[in-house]
Amino acid sequence: MVRLLLWVVLIGAAVYFFKRMGKRSAPDRKTEPPEIAAEPMVRCAHCGVHLPRDRALSLESNVGKQWYCSQTHMEQGPGSRDR
Ligand SMILES: [Zn+2]
Repeated sequence: MVRLLLWVVLIGAAVYFFKRMGKRSAPDRKTEPPEIAAEPMVRCAHCGVHLPRDRALSLESNVGKQWYCSQTHMEQGPGSRDR
């Protein structure tokens, strides 16, 4: 009977320590957004290739903002192959 009580105390202490350690090793860093979400992808209006927005060239037009993958495609304008 004494042994059983000892086991109960031991398991209880182990569970208590695991809970404390679990809380300590899990800070609020998980709430940070992933790296990919901070870099939105845009589509080249000429060739349709996707690239990070900070690498793309933007052009304001009457239909809105358009993105291009390169200076050449920006000069050539939106592609004719519409889907
Ligand atoms: Zn392009």
